Amino acid sequence: MPVKIQAVERFSPAHRAGIKPGQVLISINENAISDVLDYRFYMMDRVLKLSLLDRKQRLRQITVKKDEYEDLGLEFETYLMDKQHHCKNKCIFCFVDQMPPGMREQLYFKDDDERLSFLFGNYVTLTNLKQADIDRIIKMHISPINISVHTTNPELRVKMMKNPRAGECLSYIRQLTDAGIKVNTQLVLCPGINDGEELKRSLRELSALYPNLESIAAVPVGLTRFRQDLYELKPYTKQQAGETIRIIHAFADEFYEQHGVRLAYPADEFFLKAELPIPEPAYYGDYNQLENGVGLLALLKEEFERALEDDTITCTPGRTVSIATGTAVGPFITELAQRAKQRFPGLDCRVHIIRNEYFGETITVAGLITATDLIAQLKGKHLGDTLLIPRVMLRFEQDRFLDDITLEALEEELGVSVGVVENDGFELLEKMTGG
Ligand code: SF4
Repeated sequence: MPVKIQAVERFSPAHRAGIKPGQVLISINENAISDVLDYRFYMMDRVLKLSLLDRKQRLRQITVKKDEYEDLGLEFETYLMDKQHHCKNKCIFCFVDQMPPGMREQLYFKDDDERLSFLFGNYVTLTNLKQADIDRIIKMHISPINISVHTTNPELRVKMMKNPRAGECLSYIRQLTDAGIKVNTQLVLCPGINDGEELKRSLRELSALYPNLESIAAVPVGLTRFRQDLYELKPYTKQQAGETIRIIHAFADEFYEQHGVRLAYPADEFFLKAELPIPEPAYYGDYNQLENGVGLLALLKEEFERALEDDTITCTPGRTVSIATGTAVGPFITELAQRAKQRFPGLDCRVHIIRNEYFGETITVAGLITATDLIAQLKGKHLGDTLLIPRVMLRFEQDRFLDDITLEALEEELGVSVGVVENDGFELLEKMTGG
């Protein structure tokens, strides 16, 4: 589908060639342009023959000369230059289906777009792709691709994703890795469904695609209190979480012996649920599954420990600070706060563990805490000079919580300035101490 040019960057190759906003890009070097991937791939050459439709619908050919890999300089109405691909599954564990009513419309959109996997690292299921899409990914060598696998058992995948194509498209993963595309995978585990023996099978079958299959992250299912009329699922118990970690460790220890990498990792949440210590940083290798919550806490602790030894970090005299976090990570953050207080005896740092009443108390991660719960549970408390919250609590241009309440409104309600902290141990210590 031809795409309309919204703007032309000043002094870019397209600008120098006289291309104007409002024109429609049809092809580059006779390759039809239908989305951002086509555009990015075909604009890499030094000499580009562009076919354009001008405002009067006349076909024009323009030749543009540029450096190899130099951006052509065109901007389009949407970043993807196409409609976002939505998912065609009805996964039994889908978080979107368990959201409370009345939230922002975009939160109910179920995306499953291979272009966003390449551009932003989103996970895709492959169920809405055809062989021609896979061929295009291979031709363009779009790598890495992040894939939500959940299970390598085709029948079980169909059942879990409620999509008859969910089993057959597992073969695409092998096509991608055989073609040299790097693949990261995730398994959202549901107790009694795709863990246990099924998990062992998935680990075994995915590991056969190593080294182009680079990692497997196992994430526990998240269940809110809004699961009306949905498949009956239960959250992980401490014992089940421990058993899942044991299965992954048994596999990963053996894999490490043979290949020097662990390949499969339980998400931090599994360790917290099982009440087991977070592994040391070396366990996570290159930390390439951080976006799945794998190794975030080990990295944070490692950086925090180093920051504690940094003489340039000082503590403002009389500093009083509060930290708000979720129930799962609460004890871990409390431990870091204790370490900071030992290093800076004048520091008063209180950790407030927030129960997730908005989504339900089975949701324990900090990233799903809303301002509604912060206000309900912190109002009237002495919060000191500042209240620190992790960046993951914010959405939508990074100034609002999931319930659409702004950071500014939270500050007003609580009567305290709120500091936002990245998942960075140095930043956490600096914001705790004010120095
Ligand atoms: S792929 Fe499954 S979990 Fe993801 S949005 Fe679609 S239905 Fe929900």
